Amino acid sequence: MNIIIMGLPGAGKGTQAAKIIKKHSIPHISTGDMFRLAIKNETDLGKQAKAFMDQGELVPDEVTVGIVKERLSQSDAKGGFLLDGFPRTIEQAEALNKIMEDLGSQIDQTINIDVPEEELMNRLTGRRICETCGATYHLVFNPPKEEGICNLDGGKLYQREDDNPDTVANRLEVNIKQTTPLLNFYKELGVLSTVDGSKDIDEVFEEIDEILNDL
Ligand SMILES: [Zn+2]
Repeated sequence: MNIIIMGLPGAGKGTQAAKIIKKHSIPHISTGDMFRLAIKNETDLGKQAKAFMDQGELVPDEVTVGIVKERLSQSDAKGGFLLDGFPRTIEQAEALNKIMEDLGSQIDQTINIDVPEEELMNRLTGRRICETCGATYHLVFNPPKEEGICNLDGGKLYQREDDNPDTVANRLEVNIKQTTPLLNFYKELGVLSTVDGSKDIDEVFEEIDEILNDL
């Protein structure tokens, strides 16, 4: 099974990805890992990517796509894979279709973990950190015993800049703009399944698993 997993920040994509690859014994192929591997193995494309990164430049699509193709051609991906963080654009999605065609295969399903924006805001802005020991809390999922105070040492809890509502709302907005066309692309191809990511972790996984078992 060749699967793409998608979801906004806070939707639980990483958690579900871990469960999927464990149950179905397929490699989790994330963009970050692919780049690290290509650079570590000093492949031609890895060297090219590194040159752009070292100059603080974006890696051009043709290099990125080449790295994806190298990775998907490896033997451990022959029996299927879970692709995460790629494609990010329609151009990349089209390039991926071409790669799959060249490999005599196709993308079987795209799993989109859908969580309402309001719920994502709750999840992503709830983190609090102890200024003394760095312990992390979450107002909803792991609240401190006393509001604003660390359980361990009585230190004051603060919110990281990254977690403040404006920053989070902006991050979500950027992500929604980026993923909406991709979701439409895979929907039109008839390989998009959307699951309700606001349920609890095991329920979400059950829903995903039913979809995968039908492939
Ligand atoms: Zn503390």
